[in-house]
Amino acid sequence: MSQTTLVTPSTCCYCGVGCGVLIEHDGEHIHGVTGDPSHPANLGRLCSKGSTLHLTGDLTARGLYPELRLGKGLARARTHWDTALDHAAQVFADTLAEHGPDSVAFYISGQLLTEDYYAFNKLARALVGTNNLDSNSRLCMSSAVVGYKRSFGSDTPPCSYEDIEQSDCLLIAGSNMAYAHPVLFRRLEEAKARRPEMKVIVIDPRRTDTAELADLHLQLQPGSDVALFHGLLHILLWEGWIDRAFIDAHTSGFDELKRTVRDYTPAMVADICGLRVEQLQECARLIGNAPSFLSLWCMGLNQSSNGSGNNTALINLHLATGQIGRTGAGPFSLTGQPNAMGGRETGSLSNLLPGHRDAANPEHRDEVARYWQVGQLPDSPGLTAIELFEAVRDGRIKALWIACTNPAQSVPNQTLVHQALAACPFVVVQEAFFTTETCRYADLLLPAASWGEKEGMVTNSERRISHVRPAVPAPGEARPDWAITADFARRLERHLRPGQPSLFDFTGPAQIFDEFKWLTEGRDLDLTGLSHAVIDEIGPQQWPFPTGAHQGTPRLYADGEFPTADGRARFVAEQYRAPQEKREPRYPLTLNTGRLRDQWHGMSRTGTAARLFGHVEEPILSLHPDDMQRRQLKDNALVRISSRRGSLVLPAKADPSLRPGEAYVPMHWGDRFLKGLGINVLTQPAYDPLSKQPELKLSAVAVEAV
Ligand code: SF4
Repeated sequence: MSQTTLVTPSTCCYCGVGCGVLIEHDGEHIHGVTGDPSHPANLGRLCSKGSTLHLTGDLTARGLYPELRLGKGLARARTHWDTALDHAAQVFADTLAEHGPDSVAFYISGQLLTEDYYAFNKLARALVGTNNLDSNSRLCMSSAVVGYKRSFGSDTPPCSYEDIEQSDCLLIAGSNMAYAHPVLFRRLEEAKARRPEMKVIVIDPRRTDTAELADLHLQLQPGSDVALFHGLLHILLWEGWIDRAFIDAHTSGFDELKRTVRDYTPAMVADICGLRVEQLQECARLIGNAPSFLSLWCMGLNQSSNGSGNNTALINLHLATGQIGRTGAGPFSLTGQPNAMGGRETGSLSNLLPGHRDAANPEHRDEVARYWQVGQLPDSPGLTAIELFEAVRDGRIKALWIACTNPAQSVPNQTLVHQALAACPFVVVQEAFFTTETCRYADLLLPAASWGEKEGMVTNSERRISHVRPAVPAPGEARPDWAITADFARRLERHLRPGQPSLFDFTGPAQIFDEFKWLTEGRDLDLTGLSHAVIDEIGPQQWPFPTGAHQGTPRLYADGEFPTADGRARFVAEQYRAPQEKREPRYPLTLNTGRLRDQWHGMSRTGTAARLFGHVEEPILSLHPDDMQRRQLKDNALVRISSRRGSLVLPAKADPSLRPGEAYVPMHWGDRFLKGLGINVLTQPAYDPLSKQPELKLSAVAVEAV
């Protein structure tokens, strides 16, 4: 490090582990990134993505100036911020006047900072008067939100990363942690090396790098998780490996669940899951005899048409065995995105409101409306991600504002999404990287500041809030997301509430955080003891952190009290349902999609660093060797993959880590890399009825040589 090098502590912008980083820079350019040894999430470690953040500063991909077009057939031209935002305010005001508040929508991102989210929420709910504000977290964590709320009465993951290291038996379901949460996986590997007696169970249809660490890998049929968890509970009951005292003292609904799981005999479950009875018995034995049992899960459970049932069935195992609220024990969802938790805190799903409130609850609406000093908040249900793009396609949404996300790559059923974006009368895209597929559809394209240039808070998977700090100025005229949102909102206020004091006189992220935090007062996530200054002084903290607290809360429910009406956790008795799309002769394979180790989402950032293509250069369809042979395919043969929604041509390769009948492709490539509409042209929009999270991981496909 030279003498002129400055160091700014911040937080990685990729996954939900939320690693602390030290940014090395000269005030103009970022030269290097190292792990922050003082950050509790990573203690100095970084993965390949975090440690190459300084290589992703390619300005040719960045948006530098606002661009506007005044007609669909025209090219966008550079414009001034004032012109851009005045125009947007005029179009939104005209649309609202003609078609009402639910004719516009906001689609935002789990990568926004907490203060950005808050500004968008206030804009949509308090000013525009719509609940049509949803986030790409709908594709990521909404099933976990429903699972926690149904089981515990609140959206509160109870564990800490330390519990992962201290557990005696760790179950990882539907998560390739080794790729998706690499630093956390490294902490687990190190803990298991120190304590080889720790047992690791991995439940995954693929034999992933994560599964290689497992003492027991259950390579189940995709989508059979509820049957598996009920079958495990059946055996735990039969063997007497449950905690009757905990069940009696702290839960409700056990008798109904018992009646449900009675039918899930080992033989039946083994058949549904494609496993052997002995494997189920071994899994139940490991769980039932472990002094402490912790489970981790991610998209494999959440991205399912039974996502919320997957969550509650797994949580049932913890409640039945009393494995919660203790060191090394509890159900612990891994958040995919860096600030999906912050989105939940600020109410950034269409059914939520700030402070873990519900948009459907009149008291909650009144509380927030009073705090914001507006008459009332909208009571009509907001559109969720899939519904939102269907509404855009159908012409019900006339103006759409998209921030920090790329739905023209990431939302399932891309044909519909592209049709919707092309047909929408007015599309605003607020984005740091002007290379994304969605930018193509923007009538107004607004350059946003990005990691290393903007400030705010993020909350990681263990409820820990960390400070994201700027090191260098944003390029060109790019501005922080909260500032763009507030500037637009003030201009829209001139149309909607002329002469009244502005709701958006924000002075900066610290002031926005202070405004937001009082909406959490007395709630399950109480943040009122925190501020930017407090976190700078005492370091990243886990909520709840109420006024007067001196430290965060590493573990919840230690007293067996749950935030339900009767203080008891609830067993949820949901039946197993088969995935929506079944294999059939025309589509005989099940397609699964997922992350690569070195890429992030649609690759807008990681795709600018050549080094990150060293691991995997291009998307390849993986098939079981038997399925390759049946089609007389050799490795790297080009194949056409077709689903009911579209098709794609990719090279194929034999991969014995898959079950026969299954196919796998990384999720990252959109149509700027591939012919056709990218990977998600294949995936299906069916969703869980409660969480509305789509079943991205289970689509029926056909594969043929081209
Ligand atoms: Fe960033 Fe996640 Fe890697 Fe940590 S594990 S460095 S948060 S991508």
